[in-house]
Amino acid sequence: MFKKILIANRGEIALRIIRAARELGIETVAVYSEADRESLHVRFADDDVCLGPAPARDSYLKIPRLIAAAEITGADAIHPGYGFLAENAEFAEICAASGIAFIGPTPHQIRMMGDKATARKTMAACGVPIVPGTPGPIEDVDEALEFAVKAGFPVIIKAAAGGGGKGMRVARDADDFARSFQLARSEAISAFGNGDVYVEKYLERSRHIEFQILGDTHGNVIHLGERDCSIQRRHQKLIEEAPSPALTPALREAMGEAAVRGAKAINYVGAGTVEMLLDANGEFFFMEMNTRIQVEHPVTEMLTGVDLVKEQIRVAAGLEMREKQTPSLRGHVIECRVNAEDPMRNFQPSPGKIDVFNVPGGNGVRVDTHAYAGYTVPPYYDSMIAKLICHGRDREEAIAKMKLALETFIVQGITTTIPFLGKVMRDPHFAKGDFHTKFLEQEGAYLLKELVPGAKP
Ligand code: ADP
Repeated sequence: MFKKILIANRGEIALRIIRAARELGIETVAVYSEADRESLHVRFADDDVCLGPAPARDSYLKIPRLIAAAEITGADAIHPGYGFLAENAEFAEICAASGIAFIGPTPHQIRMMGDKATARKTMAACGVPIVPGTPGPIEDVDEALEFAVKAGFPVIIKAAAGGGGKGMRVARDADDFARSFQLARSEAISAFGNGDVYVEKYLERSRHIEFQILGDTHGNVIHLGERDCSIQRRHQKLIEEAPSPALTPALREAMGEAAVRGAKAINYVGAGTVEMLLDANGEFFFMEMNTRIQVEHPVTEMLTGVDLVKEQIRVAAGLEMREKQTPSLRGHVIECRVNAEDPMRNFQPSPGKIDVFNVPGGNGVRVDTHAYAGYTVPPYYDSMIAKLICHGRDREEAIAKMKLALETFIVQGITTTIPFLGKVMRDPHFAKGDFHTKFLEQEGAYLLKELVPGAKP
């Protein structure tokens, strides 16, 4: 087993990894930017190293500094968390070349899934249904338009290197197409330094259903059930839950089997997620695979009792995973992402100092956060300040718990999405489990308005 893990990340996920390592008796090294000097992950790790100035490209993304930090502190493994370098195959390669274990899949596996166009080919080759689309990246706008016309509008133009909802454009008709195509390309170049895009049929009124995968170096690959992440804004997840209100046991089995087949095809090792779309007719299609731990992993942890981060560390050390088959899924779990954003101002980030911070608690309530009273949310990074996860014996109970937890989650000094999340919990469509990925922007548009500042959620 590893002796010391360097965590190449910040915020709540850095704390989450520190906890898992500590429980396994492993020491930790925190790295931080000048803006994160006062962060809890720096305080709670055994060792810490400053990487550089606040912007991520000068600190959290500086590979040579991370490797140097690991060498100086004697770390024998690096956990990348999510975001930053988590899906950077080159980083995984450099770790290996420096004799440091990368806690995640192999560079080859990251590459196979990191490029969305390659991932689609890999999945299609093992019989997993993929969203109808161009066979690979496409450069010529007329050729792309030809596909769109044949497939039928709307279509979605996606950056092959995409992530975080960037470099994605929906085109509703031929007039719209050329403009959207160019926009997606230029967004892809500026966000990922790679302008490759491909075109897919846009599935209206679909749900985002993803399966948690775990694999080890002994040939075991399983799924740990799904998460329904259809409550989104601009292709970004806000609320996740499991089990999905839309799945029957038969559908879960079919989708889970397809997800495992895809992961097995590349001998997947570590924690990963196979993301799929379930269309309005109940047909499912592979969308992409994330080769890392995800923000919403606690949903699965509460539903199954499996500690995914600990398993991730164990399998990276070459141990056999403890679960050999899908564990039983107990009750119902909902997660709300609490962001330092102002829903009344188009969800614009609202960094600043937190004066009051009261975290909810109680049976079945979990809060993963790096924030505290007196903490200043820096403007440089993601605006998520906490994840609130509630476990009930059924969906109704989980919603009831979440409503109460949101009411007692008091954050003062900055504006957060807590009141908005409370409104979603009270929405009749949400209560019925009747929603799709565009629900908030289309039918739920009223939820995005008319928030009374300071009102109870
Ligand atoms: P990213 O990697 O940027 O997160 P994804 O490929 O995971 O992008 O897609 C994010 C979201 O975009 C999905 O959850 C879904 O809401 C929407 N989406 C992506 N592809 C399609 C599609 N073909 N049809 C309908 N919605 C899509």
